[in-house]
Amino acid sequence: MYKLSIPLLQFKNLPHLYARLTNSAMLKKTALFLVVILLPLFPLTTFAWGVTGHRIVAEIASRHLTPQARKAVTAILGRQSMAMVANWPDFIKSDTTHKYDHTSSWHYLDFPPNSTRQQFDDHMHTQTDENLYIETQALIKKLKDPATSKTDKQFALTFLIHMIGDMHQPLHVGHADDQGGNKISVTWFDKPTNLHRVWDEHLIEFQQLSYTEYTQALDTASVTEIRQLQSGTISDWMFESNQLSDKIYKLTKPDSKLSYRYNYWFLKDMNEQLLKGGLRLAALLNGIYK
Ligand SMILES: [Zn+2]
Repeated sequence: MYKLSIPLLQFKNLPHLYARLTNSAMLKKTALFLVVILLPLFPLTTFAWGVTGHRIVAEIASRHLTPQARKAVTAILGRQSMAMVANWPDFIKSDTTHKYDHTSSWHYLDFPPNSTRQQFDDHMHTQTDENLYIETQALIKKLKDPATSKTDKQFALTFLIHMIGDMHQPLHVGHADDQGGNKISVTWFDKPTNLHRVWDEHLIEFQQLSYTEYTQALDTASVTEIRQLQSGTISDWMFESNQLSDKIYKLTKPDSKLSYRYNYWFLKDMNEQLLKGGLRLAALLNGIYK
Protein backbone atom coordinates (compact mmCIF):
# COMPACT_ATOMS: atom_id res chain seq x y z
CA MET A 1 0.00 0.00 0.00
CA TYR A 2 2.85 2.38 0.73
CA LYS A 3 4.38 1.85 -2.67
CA LEU A 4 0.93 2.07 -4.17
CA SER A 5 -0.24 5.45 -2.86
CA ILE A 6 2.36 7.66 -4.49
CA PRO A 7 2.24 6.32 -8.06
CA LEU A 8 -1.56 6.27 -7.85
CA LEU A 9 -1.65 9.93 -6.93
CA GLN A 10 0.74 10.76 -9.69
CA PHE A 11 -1.24 8.91 -12.31
CA LYS A 12 -4.50 10.37 -11.06
CA ASN A 13 -2.96 13.81 -11.47
CA LEU A 14 -1.73 13.10 -14.97
CA PRO A 15 -4.78 14.44 -16.80
CA HIS A 16 -4.62 17.68 -14.83
CA LEU A 17 -0.91 18.07 -15.46
CA TYR A 18 -1.38 17.50 -19.15
CA ALA A 19 -4.29 19.91 -19.23
CA ARG A 20 -2.15 22.61 -17.67
CA LEU A 21 0.69 22.07 -20.06
CA THR A 22 -1.48 22.16 -23.12
CA ASN A 23 -5.11 22.43 -24.06
CA SER A 24 -4.85 19.66 -26.58
CA ALA A 25 -7.87 17.38 -26.28
CA MET A 26 -5.80 14.65 -27.86
CA LEU A 27 -3.27 14.76 -25.01
CA LYS A 28 -6.01 14.75 -22.40
CA LYS A 29 -7.48 11.64 -23.98
CA THR A 30 -4.05 9.97 -24.04
CA ALA A 31 -3.52 10.72 -20.37
CA LEU A 32 -6.92 9.32 -19.42
CA PHE A 33 -6.21 6.24 -21.50
CA LEU A 34 -2.93 5.75 -19.63
CA VAL A 35 -4.74 5.99 -16.29
CA VAL A 36 -7.29 3.40 -17.36
CA ILE A 37 -4.79 0.87 -18.67
CA LEU A 38 -2.08 1.36 -16.04
CA LEU A 39 -4.13 1.35 -12.85
CA PRO A 40 -4.94 -2.36 -12.88
CA LEU A 41 -1.24 -3.14 -13.23
CA PHE A 42 -0.47 -1.94 -9.70
CA PRO A 43 -0.57 -4.76 -7.18
CA LEU A 44 -3.63 -4.57 -4.98
CA THR A 45 -2.48 -7.16 -2.48
CA THR A 46 -1.48 -6.19 1.04
CA PHE A 47 -0.24 -8.29 3.90
CA ALA A 48 -1.01 -6.66 7.24
CA TRP A 49 -3.34 -4.50 9.31
CA GLY A 50 -2.79 -1.04 7.88
CA VAL A 51 -0.60 1.43 9.73
CA THR A 52 -3.41 2.60 11.99
CA GLY A 53 -4.47 -0.92 13.03
CA HIS A 54 -0.96 -1.88 14.11
CA ARG A 55 -0.51 1.38 16.01
CA ILE A 56 -3.80 0.89 17.87
CA VAL A 57 -2.79 -2.62 18.99
CA ALA A 58 0.65 -1.41 20.11
CA GLU A 59 -0.71 1.68 21.87
CA ILE A 60 -3.32 -0.33 23.78
CA ALA A 61 -0.60 -2.79 24.82
CA SER A 62 1.68 0.00 26.04
CA ARG A 63 -1.09 1.16 28.40
CA HIS A 64 -1.31 -2.26 30.05
CA LEU A 65 2.33 -3.05 30.76
CA THR A 66 3.50 -3.79 34.29
CA PRO A 67 6.24 -1.43 35.55
CA GLN A 68 8.87 -4.17 34.94
CA ALA A 69 7.71 -4.79 31.39
CA ARG A 70 7.57 -1.07 30.65
CA LYS A 71 11.13 -0.69 31.90
CA ALA A 72 12.34 -3.59 29.77
CA VAL A 73 10.54 -2.32 26.66
CA THR A 74 11.98 1.18 27.13
CA ALA A 75 15.47 -0.30 27.58
CA ILE A 76 15.09 -2.02 24.19
CA LEU A 77 13.22 0.59 22.14
CA GLY A 78 14.72 3.69 23.73
CA ARG A 79 12.66 6.78 23.00
CA GLN A 80 10.64 5.15 20.22
CA SER A 81 7.08 4.25 21.19
CA MET A 82 5.67 0.78 20.61
CA ALA A 83 3.08 2.35 18.30
CA MET A 84 5.72 3.94 16.10
CA VAL A 85 7.82 0.81 15.66
CA ALA A 86 4.76 -1.40 15.06
CA ASN A 87 4.76 -1.02 11.26
CA TRP A 88 8.48 -1.48 10.63
CA PRO A 89 8.07 -5.19 9.71
CA ASP A 90 5.83 -4.04 6.83
CA PHE A 91 8.02 -1.10 5.83
CA ILE A 92 11.07 -3.36 5.39
CA LYS A 93 9.30 -5.18 2.57
CA SER A 94 10.49 -2.21 0.49
CA ASP A 95 14.15 -2.71 1.44
CA THR A 96 16.03 -2.89 -1.84
CA THR A 97 18.82 -5.08 -0.41
CA HIS A 98 16.19 -7.79 0.18
CA LYS A 99 17.86 -8.71 3.46
CA TYR A 100 14.49 -9.06 5.18
CA ASP A 101 12.75 -11.07 2.47
CA HIS A 102 12.83 -14.21 4.63
CA THR A 103 10.41 -12.51 7.07
CA SER A 104 7.58 -12.09 4.56
CA SER A 105 6.00 -15.42 5.54
CA TRP A 106 5.97 -14.46 9.24
CA HIS A 107 2.88 -12.26 8.86
CA TYR A 108 0.26 -14.95 8.31
CA LEU A 109 -0.72 -18.60 8.44
CA ASP A 110 -3.50 -19.92 6.21
CA PHE A 111 -5.90 -22.70 7.10
CA PRO A 112 -8.38 -24.94 5.27
CA PRO A 113 -11.90 -23.42 5.24
CA ASN A 114 -14.19 -24.07 8.23
CA SER A 115 -11.58 -25.90 10.30
CA THR A 116 -12.68 -27.46 13.56
CA ARG A 117 -10.34 -26.90 16.51
CA GLN A 118 -8.81 -30.32 15.96
CA GLN A 119 -8.25 -29.68 12.23
CA PHE A 120 -6.85 -26.25 13.04
CA ASP A 121 -4.36 -27.65 15.57
CA ASP A 122 -3.36 -30.53 13.28
CA HIS A 123 -2.73 -28.13 10.41
CA MET A 124 -0.80 -25.65 12.55
CA HIS A 125 1.43 -28.24 14.14
CA THR A 126 2.34 -29.94 10.88
CA GLN A 127 3.63 -26.72 9.26
CA THR A 128 7.40 -26.58 9.08
CA ASP A 129 7.95 -23.37 7.07
CA GLU A 130 8.55 -20.07 8.86
CA ASN A 131 5.09 -18.71 9.66
CA LEU A 132 3.12 -16.51 12.06
CA TYR A 133 2.80 -19.22 14.71
CA ILE A 134 6.30 -20.70 14.61
CA GLU A 135 8.04 -17.33 14.46
CA THR A 136 5.98 -15.83 17.28
CA GLN A 137 7.20 -18.62 19.56
CA ALA A 138 10.78 -18.11 18.36
CA LEU A 139 10.65 -14.35 19.04
CA ILE A 140 9.33 -14.86 22.56
CA LYS A 141 12.13 -17.33 23.23
CA LYS A 142 14.66 -14.85 21.91
CA LEU A 143 13.34 -12.04 24.13
CA LYS A 144 13.48 -14.30 27.19
CA ASP A 145 17.07 -15.34 26.51
CA PRO A 146 19.53 -13.13 28.48
CA ALA A 147 22.23 -13.91 25.90
CA THR A 148 20.31 -12.12 23.10
CA SER A 149 22.07 -8.93 21.97
CA LYS A 150 20.31 -5.56 22.19
CA THR A 151 20.07 -5.31 18.40
CA ASP A 152 18.48 -8.75 18.19
CA LYS A 153 16.11 -7.83 21.00
CA GLN A 154 15.06 -4.68 19.13
CA PHE A 155 14.34 -6.76 16.05
CA ALA A 156 12.47 -9.44 18.03
CA LEU A 157 10.36 -7.01 20.05
CA THR A 158 9.44 -4.95 17.00
CA PHE A 159 8.35 -8.06 15.16
CA LEU A 160 6.43 -9.45 18.14
CA ILE A 161 4.50 -6.16 18.47
CA HIS A 162 3.64 -6.39 14.78
CA MET A 163 2.80 -10.08 14.63
CA ILE A 164 0.41 -10.12 17.58
CA GLY A 165 -1.41 -7.41 15.63
CA ASP A 166 -1.44 -9.46 12.42
CA MET A 167 -2.68 -12.49 14.35
CA HIS A 168 -5.81 -10.56 15.28
CA GLN A 169 -6.53 -9.47 11.69
CA PRO A 170 -8.79 -12.44 10.88
CA LEU A 171 -7.70 -12.66 7.24
CA HIS A 172 -4.09 -13.26 8.31
CA VAL A 173 -5.34 -16.63 9.52
CA GLY A 174 -7.75 -17.09 6.61
CA HIS A 175 -7.78 -19.43 3.65
CA ALA A 176 -4.82 -20.27 1.39
CA ASP A 177 -6.58 -20.52 -1.99
CA ASP A 178 -7.62 -16.84 -1.99
CA GLN A 179 -4.46 -15.66 -0.17
CA GLY A 180 -6.35 -14.47 2.91
CA GLY A 181 -8.94 -12.58 0.86
CA ASN A 182 -6.36 -10.84 -1.36
CA LYS A 183 -7.83 -12.59 -4.40
CA ILE A 184 -11.45 -11.77 -3.52
CA SER A 185 -12.40 -8.63 -5.43
CA VAL A 186 -14.99 -6.36 -3.85
CA THR A 187 -15.78 -2.67 -3.93
CA TRP A 188 -15.58 -0.38 -0.92
CA PHE A 189 -17.87 2.60 -1.45
CA ASP A 190 -17.68 1.90 -5.21
CA LYS A 191 -13.86 1.76 -5.33
CA PRO A 192 -12.35 -1.54 -6.50
CA THR A 193 -10.36 -3.27 -3.77
CA ASN A 194 -10.13 -6.72 -2.20
CA LEU A 195 -11.48 -8.35 0.94
CA HIS A 196 -8.09 -8.46 2.67
CA ARG A 197 -7.66 -4.73 2.25
CA VAL A 198 -11.12 -4.00 3.58
CA TRP A 199 -10.00 -5.60 6.84
CA ASP A 200 -6.47 -4.19 6.79
CA GLU A 201 -7.46 -0.62 6.13
CA HIS A 202 -10.86 0.43 4.81
CA LEU A 203 -12.98 -0.48 7.83
CA ILE A 204 -10.52 1.21 10.20
CA GLU A 205 -10.12 4.30 8.02
CA PHE A 206 -13.89 4.61 7.75
CA GLN A 207 -14.02 5.42 11.50
CA GLN A 208 -11.97 8.59 10.91
CA LEU A 209 -10.05 8.32 14.16
CA SER A 210 -6.34 8.74 14.77
CA TYR A 211 -4.65 5.79 16.47
CA THR A 212 -4.58 7.64 19.79
CA GLU A 213 -8.26 8.57 19.54
CA TYR A 214 -9.08 5.00 18.56
CA THR A 215 -7.10 3.63 21.51
CA GLN A 216 -8.87 5.98 23.89
CA ALA A 217 -12.24 4.88 22.53
CA LEU A 218 -11.53 1.13 22.75
CA ASP A 219 -9.50 0.87 25.93
CA THR A 220 -12.40 0.93 28.37
CA ALA A 221 -12.71 -2.71 29.50
CA SER A 222 -13.06 -3.47 33.21
CA VAL A 223 -10.33 -5.32 35.11
CA THR A 224 -12.40 -8.53 34.99
CA GLU A 225 -13.01 -8.18 31.25
CA ILE A 226 -9.32 -7.52 30.65
CA ARG A 227 -8.31 -10.68 32.54
CA GLN A 228 -10.84 -12.67 30.54
CA LEU A 229 -9.69 -11.27 27.18
CA GLN A 230 -6.04 -11.89 28.08
CA SER A 231 -6.61 -15.54 28.97
CA GLY A 232 -5.82 -18.41 26.62
CA THR A 233 -2.81 -19.40 24.56
CA ILE A 234 -1.47 -18.08 21.28
CA SER A 235 -3.13 -20.99 19.47
CA ASP A 236 -6.46 -20.18 21.18
CA TRP A 237 -6.17 -16.59 19.93
CA MET A 238 -5.32 -17.67 16.43
CA PHE A 239 -8.20 -20.16 16.34
CA GLU A 240 -10.61 -17.43 17.46
CA SER A 241 -9.33 -15.18 14.66
CA ASN A 242 -9.61 -18.05 12.18
CA GLN A 243 -13.24 -18.65 13.17
CA LEU A 244 -13.98 -14.98 12.62
CA SER A 245 -12.40 -15.29 9.17
CA ASP A 246 -14.83 -18.12 8.34
CA LYS A 247 -17.72 -15.82 9.31
CA ILE A 248 -16.26 -13.05 7.12
CA TYR A 249 -15.89 -15.38 4.12
CA LYS A 250 -19.48 -16.53 4.57
CA LEU A 251 -20.84 -12.98 4.63
CA THR A 252 -18.61 -11.48 1.93
CA LYS A 253 -19.07 -13.08 -1.45
CA PRO A 254 -16.71 -12.15 -4.31
CA ASP A 255 -17.70 -8.95 -6.14
CA SER A 256 -19.79 -7.69 -3.22
CA LYS A 257 -20.43 -3.96 -3.08
CA LEU A 258 -19.45 -3.08 0.47
CA SER A 259 -20.30 0.13 2.27
CA TYR A 260 -22.39 1.28 5.26
CA ARG A 261 -24.04 -2.09 5.90
CA TYR A 262 -20.70 -3.89 6.01
CA ASN A 263 -19.44 -1.42 8.57
CA TYR A 264 -22.61 -2.04 10.58
CA TRP A 265 -22.16 -5.83 10.40
CA PHE A 266 -18.51 -6.01 11.33
CA LEU A 267 -17.46 -2.92 13.29
CA LYS A 268 -17.95 -4.61 16.67
CA ASP A 269 -15.92 -7.67 15.60
CA MET A 270 -13.12 -5.54 14.25
CA ASN A 271 -12.94 -3.33 17.34
CA GLU A 272 -12.88 -6.40 19.58
CA GLN A 273 -9.98 -7.82 17.57
CA LEU A 274 -8.00 -4.59 17.96
CA LEU A 275 -8.64 -4.48 21.70
CA LYS A 276 -7.83 -8.17 22.17
CA GLY A 277 -4.63 -7.79 20.15
CA GLY A 278 -3.48 -4.92 22.37
CA LEU A 279 -4.38 -6.54 25.69
CA ARG A 280 -2.85 -9.88 24.71
CA LEU A 281 0.37 -8.28 23.49
CA ALA A 282 0.61 -6.64 26.92
CA ALA A 283 -0.05 -9.98 28.62
CA LEU A 284 2.73 -11.63 26.63
CA LEU A 285 5.23 -8.88 27.40
CA ASN A 286 4.23 -8.85 31.07
CA GLY A 287 4.87 -12.61 31.07
CA ILE A 288 8.27 -12.27 29.40
CA TYR A 289 9.44 -9.51 31.76
CA LYS A 290 8.29 -10.84 35.14
ZN1 LIG B 1 2.19 -7.83 8.86
